[in-house]
Amino acid sequence: SDMSHPYPAFWSPRVAGLEPYVPGEQPRIANLVKLNTNEHPSPPSPRVIAAIAEAARDGLQRYPDPESTSLREAIARRHGLQPAQVFVGNGSDEVLSHAFLAFFQRGEPLLFPDVTYSFYRVWTQLHGIEAEAVPVDEALRIEIDALARRAERGCAGVVIANPNAPTGQGLPLDAIEQLLRACPMRVVLVDEAYVDFGASSAAALVEAHPNLLVVQTLSKSRALAGLRVGFALGQPPLIEALARIKNSFNSYPLDRLAQAGAQAAIEDDEWFSAQCRAVIDTREGLALQLEDLGFEVLPSQANFVFARHPQRDAATLAAALRERAVLVRHFRQPRIDQWLRISIGTRAQCGVLVEALQAILEG
Ligand code: PMP
Repeated sequence: SDMSHPYPAFWSPRVAGLEPYVPGEQPRIANLVKLNTNEHPSPPSPRVIAAIAEAARDGLQRYPDPESTSLREAIARRHGLQPAQVFVGNGSDEVLSHAFLAFFQRGEPLLFPDVTYSFYRVWTQLHGIEAEAVPVDEALRIEIDALARRAERGCAGVVIANPNAPTGQGLPLDAIEQLLRACPMRVVLVDEAYVDFGASSAAALVEAHPNLLVVQTLSKSRALAGLRVGFALGQPPLIEALARIKNSFNSYPLDRLAQAGAQAAIEDDEWFSAQCRAVIDTREGLALQLEDLGFEVLPSQANFVFARHPQRDAATLAAALRERAVLVRHFRQPRIDQWLRISIGTRAQCGVLVEALQAILEG
C-alpha cells in the first residue's frame, strides 16, 4: 500500500477523520446481564405489541404514511403542541444528525460540554461543522454560566443532553432558559433521551422560544430501542427545516409497524408511569448498594448510574464483570476513564451485578 496515505486512497479526508465506531456490545452469551447500553430492562407495553401485530396483519403491502400523521398527532397531544411542531425519525440519532445539518453549519463553532454523548462530535466531523467542547466542572457537571457566556460571544448553536450522558445529571429548566437567552439567533438543541427518569422536559418551553429544539426517543423510557423511533419538538420553522433535510436525503419515513407501535406506546400512560417509577426505584436502591461497596455514585436522573471506585481501576472492573457475564460500559476517554456507566436492569439483574462486584472487590 501507498505509505503517503494513512487511509485508503479513495477515501475523502472527511471519512479518514472519522473514528471507527465501537458500538455498545450486543454479544450472544447465555444468561447475560446486559447493563451496557441503557436499554429498558422489560419488554414494551402489551398494547404496543398488539398495535404492531394489527399493523402487520393489515396493510404491509402498502407504503407507510410518509408524514407519520397519526403518530405526530399523538406526540403533539401528549406535549400540548400542534402536529406542525413535531418531527419524527428513525431513532433520535437520525433526528439529531438531521438537526446538526439543518442548523449548525455556519462557520462558527457549535458548543457542547466536553463530557457528553460521543456522537455530537462525530456528527460535527461528518457534516464539516466546527466544534468547541466547553469543560464540565470537577464533579462532571455542566457549567451553565460558562457555557452561556461562551454562547453570547458567538456560536453556531448549543447542544446539551439533559440529563447529560454518560453522567446522568439533570439540569433545571431555568438553566436551559439561560442558554436560550444567551444565543437567541441560534438553535439550542436539548437531547432528552433520558428525561423521563426524573428530569424536567424543555418541551414546556417550545411555545415561548423559537430557537429551542427538543429531541426525545422511544428507545429508553418506552422500551422500544429495537423499533427505532425518535422525535423533535420545536416551532414550525425548525420542524420544516428538519423535514427538508430528511426529504433531501430521500430518507425513508417510519415504516408501518414503527408508526403503529410508537403511537400505542405514546398513548399508554399507565404502563409508562409505572415503568418509569420502577426504574427510578431500582436506581435509587442500586446507588445505595454501590455506595456500600465503596463506590462514588453521581446523582442520576437517568436509567443508568455513573460510578467509580477510589481504589479499583475501572477498565479492570469492567473486564472482571464481563468474565461473570455482566456487561457494563467503560469509556476510554479523558476525564471519565475511571468511571463505569451501569444501566438500570431489573431488580434481579442489579442483584447479580452487586454480588459480582462484591466477589471481585473481595478477591
Ligand atoms: N442521545 C443520547 C444522549 C443517547 O444516549 C442515545 C442512545 N445511545 C441517543 C441519543 C440515541 O438513541 P436512539 O437513536 O435509540 O433514539
